[in-house]
Amino acid sequence: DAGGNVRVVVRVRAFLPRELYRGADCLISMDPITQMTTLHVPNDSDPANARAKSRKVIEEKSFTFDNSFWSHDMEDRHYAHQEDVYNSLGEEFLDHNFEGYHTCIFAYGQTGSGKSYTMMGTPDHPGLIPRTCEDLFQRIEQAQNETPNISYHVRASYFEVYNEHVRDLLVPVNPSQAPYYLKIRESPSEGPYVKDLTEVPVRNYGEILRYMKSGDASRTTASTKMNDTSSRSHAVFTIMLKQIHHDMETDETTERSSRIRLVDLAGSERAKSTEATGARLREGSNINKSLTTLGRVIAALAGPTQQRGGKRSKDIVPYRDSILTWLLKDSLGGNSKTAMIACIAPSDYEETLSTLRYADQAKRIRTRAVVNQDHVS
Ligand code: ADP
Ligand code: MG
Repeated sequence: DAGGNVRVVVRVRAFLPRELYRGADCLISMDPITQMTTLHVPNDSDPANARAKSRKVIEEKSFTFDNSFWSHDMEDRHYAHQEDVYNSLGEEFLDHNFEGYHTCIFAYGQTGSGKSYTMMGTPDHPGLIPRTCEDLFQRIEQAQNETPNISYHVRASYFEVYNEHVRDLLVPVNPSQAPYYLKIRESPSEGPYVKDLTEVPVRNYGEILRYMKSGDASRTTASTKMNDTSSRSHAVFTIMLKQIHHDMETDETTERSSRIRLVDLAGSERAKSTEATGARLREGSNINKSLTTLGRVIAALAGPTQQRGGKRSKDIVPYRDSILTWLLKDSLGGNSKTAMIACIAPSDYEETLSTLRYADQAKRIRTRAVVNQDHVS
């Protein structure tokens, strides 16, 4: 048994052209020794932050996370490349998967903060998902040479939660047909799952890469408004790893199954419904039930554990109030080793503070991961 806290890391990206154009200041500093991340008070030259400043008193805030990835300027010797993020988080999580643990890594942050860059990346700068897949098959190939009595089976699935509907990203979109949504079921042994979700067997890195890319394409072509779709949807990429070990001496067969979940969440500004602006919003345009519920689930899990009788009452955690939290129940508060990557923009005081507070709360969550191993004969 391995009870442990959710691992929480933070990553700040470089300026985008629009930020350089408006003369934005970098409000973030990170201490490479203490891993402390500080959000500084903006000066008035940046109109976006001056507006925030005029509304309320704002001050410098510091937070400490398990890791802080400085990806703001490449000239800095502490600059965190995609490879560095993989080496300090992805690799260790893959170790756990081979040991038989379920893992989940999810990226949180406002739209444009670097979630997709961190999880998926670009062809030239692949992120956590392709790196995990590549390392996975490298390890399998090596193990097949060294330990021929273990066989490896990998399957993958990819779905998105959009507007409280589950859509299979591995099923090609047919533009002439209404989108097809999947239902959620719950089994006593496996917990909640997506019924009829495509799970493809994969034999090598090339194959899984193709599925990943076609799923990504499906995520964005589903709607005419490309950017809007990906900022409003939660994408969940799952890899199932099964290791079947046959002991020649005892003639016993054991099976280890682990699940690798990699989640690119919707933009966190979507959690705030209408409070941020007085303007009347188009119906449903800015509310994301799964994201607001995720916030409530995290708050409940991070809250004091000493309920009546010293045990947390299960129904306080509102997993079933949204599709995403229901499906991620295990990853959030159960049998999983879990990490959250809080992605932040360099010059947005209000959204960054809200992300850092969210991340700070997530640090207090404990999960209970177990090795998923069975004797089959
Ligand atoms: P999100 O998925 O959170 O909406 P993206 O990952 O699409 O944000 O990032 C927004 C933009 O910033 C993209 O053009 C992306 O390539 C760029 N970007 C984000 N993080 C980094 C980084 N660490 N290094 C370089 N470019 C980045
Ligand atoms: Mg994105």
